[in-house]
Amino acid sequence: MTDWELDRAGLERSDTERLESALDQPETDFIVQWRGRVLVSDSQASIETGSGALVDAASEIVWLGKLTRAGATRDCFVLDVSALDEPKQALGLQGTFADLRLLGDLPTAQFGLLAYARGMLAWHENHPFCARCGARTRPKKAGHTRVCPEGHEHFPRTDPAVMILITRGDRCLIARQPGFPQGMFSALAGFVEPGESLEDTVRREALEEVGLAVHNQRYFRSQAWPFPASLMLGFVVDCEHEAYSLDDDELEEARWVSRAELLAPAGFFTPPPSSLAHHLLGAFARGDV
Ligand SMILES: [Zn+2]
Repeated sequence: MTDWELDRAGLERSDTERLESALDQPETDFIVQWRGRVLVSDSQASIETGSGALVDAASEIVWLGKLTRAGATRDCFVLDVSALDEPKQALGLQGTFADLRLLGDLPTAQFGLLAYARGMLAWHENHPFCARCGARTRPKKAGHTRVCPEGHEHFPRTDPAVMILITRGDRCLIARQPGFPQGMFSALAGFVEPGESLEDTVRREALEEVGLAVHNQRYFRSQAWPFPASLMLGFVVDCEHEAYSLDDDELEEARWVSRAELLAPAGFFTPPPSSLAHHLLGAFARGDV
């Protein structure tokens, strides 16, 4: 189940006729979401086929692209069935509607696909009106733009945010936000502000959140985080000083931990494998960054 591959095929989004007929095809794949939750079964993403009632029940439909799984390539849509109070009973669906953030052990390709689907529906839900003239907007281009009667066109937004692992020799600084599950610590994170480079954001967030000046920034990797529309960009940085001071509004506790402590955590735990933080902390613990 890990061999999934999505071709977004952006140039085909304007082919309305073909995509509308794909909605009626029995071999088309559908991801189903309900009130911000995704349909999963046995800890795997659920893919429904056989459109009919599903498509009729959808209040929003977005074509995600062409999904290859188990050797076959099919059109893949996400359907929002939030208008139903009891979607499982009404549509005869198996499985559970779950919060994607809590599905930490999903294979990366599945998490990425569900994150894309979740982000697109969140964008539609949050942009029913034109930000320029206030008129109601409607979707176009297979759900990838929205346009108002005046012709103002709107595109899905992605908000960049940095994740910062501050290191000092063999140790790194982990911290917890008040909203984290009990006992969970992670790297620092913060949103990019208008006019900032990523490097500016890394320096500013480290100073604001823990009062530390950092240098020698190294880019790690990025991850889509559609809650509702973030892109996390991971950095590892060096720091000369040990004494930190917490921004009480953002963080409730921080601690320096060694590579050995990260490999065998005692009294704390770190985010699940679906998160960028997990891989960033893991790479540091193994001495890879
Ligand atoms: Zn408008």
